[in-house]
Amino acid sequence: MFTLPKRRETLSVHIADNIYVGSEHPILVQSMTNTATQDIQKTIKQIKELNIAGSTVVRLTVKDEQGAEAIPIIRAELDKEGYSVPLVGDFHYNGHLLLSKFPACAEALAKYRINPGNVGFGEKHDYNFGTMIEIARDLNKPIRIGVNWGSLDQDLLSEFMEINASKPETKKLSFKEVIYEAMEASALRSAELAMKHGLPENKIVISAKMSEVPDLINIYRKIAKSCKFPLHLGLTEAGTAIRGMISSSAAMGILLSEGIGDTIRMSLTPSVDETGNNPLADRSLEVRACQQLLQSLELEYFKPSITSCPGCGRTSSTYFQKLADEINDYIDLEMPNWKNQYQGVEKLKIAVMGCIVNGPGESKYADIGISLPGDNESPKAPVFLDGKQYKTLEGDQIALEFKEIINKYISDKFRKV
Ligand code: SF4
Repeated sequence: MFTLPKRRETLSVHIADNIYVGSEHPILVQSMTNTATQDIQKTIKQIKELNIAGSTVVRLTVKDEQGAEAIPIIRAELDKEGYSVPLVGDFHYNGHLLLSKFPACAEALAKYRINPGNVGFGEKHDYNFGTMIEIARDLNKPIRIGVNWGSLDQDLLSEFMEINASKPETKKLSFKEVIYEAMEASALRSAELAMKHGLPENKIVISAKMSEVPDLINIYRKIAKSCKFPLHLGLTEAGTAIRGMISSSAAMGILLSEGIGDTIRMSLTPSVDETGNNPLADRSLEVRACQQLLQSLELEYFKPSITSCPGCGRTSSTYFQKLADEINDYIDLEMPNWKNQYQGVEKLKIAVMGCIVNGPGESKYADIGISLPGDNESPKAPVFLDGKQYKTLEGDQIALEFKEIINKYISDKFRKV
């Protein structure tokens, strides 16, 4: 029988309030805005949307002085509106300058993401990196050392290429293996350097993102063995919504099932949609996809799950699809209330099935199940509670009655908070 292994043991990194990253804590879902940070109102709106969808932490680009000036204003506005979601600043090239020149920005951010491939070259690299680390140390902030193979430190890559070239033919690594070595070294040497500058080890999270599924699995397996830092998982440049969700789930699913990964993000390219009606254009899709991945592996639970069959020639009408959609929407709508009222309601399992073939069987395995009538079946929908037939619904009020049954089941079975 497949059971998930214990999480890889890591240090615990405190982000803010009661939010931690590490093996002693829930796997945290995070995301990143794609608004111009200096567009304060637009950025605040998106942070709130991502946070409402379930992003525990939200990252923002801080690329210039306007962005750095906007950060404390965004923080204050969110606090005023009751959103305590921690903000992470994403720095490349000039983070040392921005964090030094804008102390209010450095203070308002809960965490800094530093890409060691983008902090300068030679002596400047260590100086710039050290400047950022000392600000983090003095303000008691954690950092993520975010290595990305698209911006891998070229000095380091050359060093590992030369080492490889000097090896006997039989011991030579492939190009990809050299990249893995260099990425691991970039992450771990940066962590060493950060600690030399006085940053405690429990202030460091590591990521090493690549864009192909097998590469991501290889690099994270490698790093997971060689340190105790919590790991942020994510396939970089994962692609457009469908491709990105599938590739990210394949890669992260394998790693998570090996106990590797303490916080995750799906970097999806949202579809363009001027009308706002395309769910694939919604930035918070990446948050919901991460939640779905964690819930499908039974690692974390976010909301009741609905098992619904795909339908087939036995359900040529779309009635059961509409019902599955209606129940999904109902759960999304009610979940914030249920969560505040009932302990463990997110583990509820509901089945909405299209006909008699698998309907009653699947419905019996769920907490609540309904088997709708397929084409040419008698227009009746048996409802099952805890594996036993509870009643049969018929007529044009099936959806309404089924929702009432869900509500009653929840209030009967789940303990009030
Ligand atoms: S449960 Fe019935 S309607 Fe659904 S896929 Fe199976 S045979 Fe088709």
